[in-house]
Amino acid sequence: MPARVPGLRKRVSAVVPSRRMTILRLALPSPLRQAFDYRLPAALAADGVPAAGVRVRVPFGRQQLVALVLEEAAEPAVAEAKLRPVQAVLDDAPVLPPALWRLALWTAHYYQHPLGDALSQMLPVLVRQGEPLRVEPAPVWRLTPRGLALADDGLQRAPRQQAAHAMLKAHPDGLADATLKGLGIGREALQALADKELAGRVAVAAGRAAGADAWPVPLLAEAALALNDEQQAAVAAVIGDLRGFHPWLLQGITGSGKTEVYLQAMAPVLAEGRQVLVLVPEIGLTPQTVARFQARYRCPVVVLHSGLTDRERLQAWRSAREGEAGIVIGTRSAVFTPLARPGLIIVDEEHDLSFKQQEGFRYHGRDVAVRRAQLEDIPVLLGSATPALESLANAAAGRYRLLTLARRAGGARSPGVRLIDVRGHRLVEGLAPAVHEAMKATLARGEQVLVFLNRRGYAPVLMCHDCGWQAGCQRCDARPTLHRDPPRLHCHHCGSEQRPPRQCPDCGSTDLRPVGAGTERLEDGLAPLFPGVAIHRVDRDSTRRKGSLQAMMARIHEGGAAILVGTQMLAKGHHFPAVTLVVIPDGDGGLFSADFRGPERLAQQLVQVSGRAGRAERPGQVLLQTHQPEHPLFAVLLGQGYSACARMLLEERALLGLPPSGHLALLRAEATRAELPLAFLQQAAMTVLQQGGGVQAWGPVPAPMARKAGMHRVHLLLKCDDRRRLHALLATLVPWLDTLPAARQVRWSVDVDPQELG
Ligand code: ADP
Ligand code: ZN
Ligand code: ZN
Repeated sequence: MPARVPGLRKRVSAVVPSRRMTILRLALPSPLRQAFDYRLPAALAADGVPAAGVRVRVPFGRQQLVALVLEEAAEPAVAEAKLRPVQAVLDDAPVLPPALWRLALWTAHYYQHPLGDALSQMLPVLVRQGEPLRVEPAPVWRLTPRGLALADDGLQRAPRQQAAHAMLKAHPDGLADATLKGLGIGREALQALADKELAGRVAVAAGRAAGADAWPVPLLAEAALALNDEQQAAVAAVIGDLRGFHPWLLQGITGSGKTEVYLQAMAPVLAEGRQVLVLVPEIGLTPQTVARFQARYRCPVVVLHSGLTDRERLQAWRSAREGEAGIVIGTRSAVFTPLARPGLIIVDEEHDLSFKQQEGFRYHGRDVAVRRAQLEDIPVLLGSATPALESLANAAAGRYRLLTLARRAGGARSPGVRLIDVRGHRLVEGLAPAVHEAMKATLARGEQVLVFLNRRGYAPVLMCHDCGWQAGCQRCDARPTLHRDPPRLHCHHCGSEQRPPRQCPDCGSTDLRPVGAGTERLEDGLAPLFPGVAIHRVDRDSTRRKGSLQAMMARIHEGGAAILVGTQMLAKGHHFPAVTLVVIPDGDGGLFSADFRGPERLAQQLVQVSGRAGRAERPGQVLLQTHQPEHPLFAVLLGQGYSACARMLLEERALLGLPPSGHLALLRAEATRAELPLAFLQQAAMTVLQQGGGVQAWGPVPAPMARKAGMHRVHLLLKCDDRRRLHALLATLVPWLDTLPAARQVRWSVDVDPQELG
């Protein structure tokens, strides 16, 4: 109300009883844990009060923000005179469909994240900025009649154009720029097709039919594979009941044909005109999987990946929301993509750590996907060769139904794993003699060897040979990794870099030596041992340049004797048919991790990397070097397999009350002065002790890395056998912590179901 003269205002309202003011409670894109009230001017209320989930533009301080309506408030939280007006209502309908809106509210609450910030992270940047939701559909590339008539091998001299031609031929409805980009089909190839009048970019009419005639007929672009018995049983189970919420866990060894199960399980869903959401860990690492979805079905497929521009992302999001896209593939954040007619959710490699967002809004994409399926009342299929212990426990408890693929599809044989006891052996470049021999024999047969070392750089430590001094990071309690090109000490925790010193700062000696090996050093060391053999190093450093990973993969897939040296990038997604030997020089890595999930991750990593061997008709072998050959984890994992190992680890967790037997939330606080986060979390711990309710507080204690990037870090771990009680406590504790003066002196966060305790 602009009235500034109190007397006048009173008199006016006494004479003309003003219509009740409409007050909107809004979520603003802000880290504050509160909603904001605004009044809706009568002019904007003419079409009725905007529903929850509609965007409005409001003044905030001196800025203008796009906010989302949460509800109409009966009573304003502040004096009416202080309410500022909504400036514009941007939508005539909510931005998110009802089930997704409920999911958004649930997720923000479950993870104790400020609602406004959570909502804004779920939406594409342009939607957050107020861009209209409905516009002309994106133009698509289609073959011209001439292009359709061209023979499949008509462009042999131009392989890129030929690939583009084949892709467009499989999708007569056309493909949008963003989708083609996701498929690795470049603009130049398309332009070349256009120049030859083989293809063109055309705008398609809006308003597709919904239901069974939503997609082109026939839907299948290629014949489905004939399933083996296990695959058949899995597909039959899932499609046996596509109505209602059914969570499935598909545990299938690498190469067992899980992707084929996904493909065939989605067929009847698509046939009904409904949409399928597929979540994958990292699209950059799994282009083959994405391409298989594209190749199988003629319905539009949108791929949400980090390489999209804001505009492309908006287009993909819209086409999912409008029901134009039949299949939506994306990483973690794609779980929030609205779907007009959702029918099935698939989470591939559901154990993968990348599904958990590790900062800010710390949700777990897989868990949110399951919740979404429940709210949408549709089935959800989680797949992995090495399911998370949480998922296996859910299956054991009957909450998920377990489907198993124990054999490799297409008759390929699984690799045998052998432990190599390296105790007392002389190692050459970190390799035991038996391993060296096996590598030579494999290479002599023209086959490939994969050496898995999950440590990039040249060496993890730079040490003075005369006095024992070790290079440290100035900002972290960590040692920077020595890298070779260019020579530098790089801290992988804070990103800081320094030039390696020539002399020891303590004793002046020039005898500084790298200790231990990373992938760069291993690559160097292997070259003279295997003269003339191509060595490909695959890690974040060697693949930083755009397209370099694809180029390297192409060279590897040409076949021929070669050694692949790499980090876990090699253990994910990619199939290496020519690899018949996998070598793991340091198999003990995760055994002594401070994190209780260390053994689980180690087991998953060993199984995943082993799965890269012997995929085709050739059986493979895995050689795992260890100083702990009697360790029960190895005995059970290699003797009885991943499931038995998981059962053993689950028993250990149950004894300790750790997830999934108990439930955790981790409060983290940090500041440049160590006493501030400690004092802040002590207040939290005291409150937990007083309120009790079965929640235990462990700490506060310094974080495993007590100083990182110049900040002193303190942890308080909350633990409870009962999830509901933990969440009841968090619901009061977290907002209260927010009001403490000490909260403003630290950076703090709450991590519900933390995946890493670092
Ligand atoms: P996973 O995802 O379980 O590792 P994939 O789905 O990638 O396995 O399948 C591994 C290989 O086996 C692929 O090359 C795939 O084409 C092939 N394959 C899958 N199912 C069958 C089948 N029923 N018959 C023949 N080959 C199959
Ligand atoms: Zn020294
Ligand atoms: Zn550092």
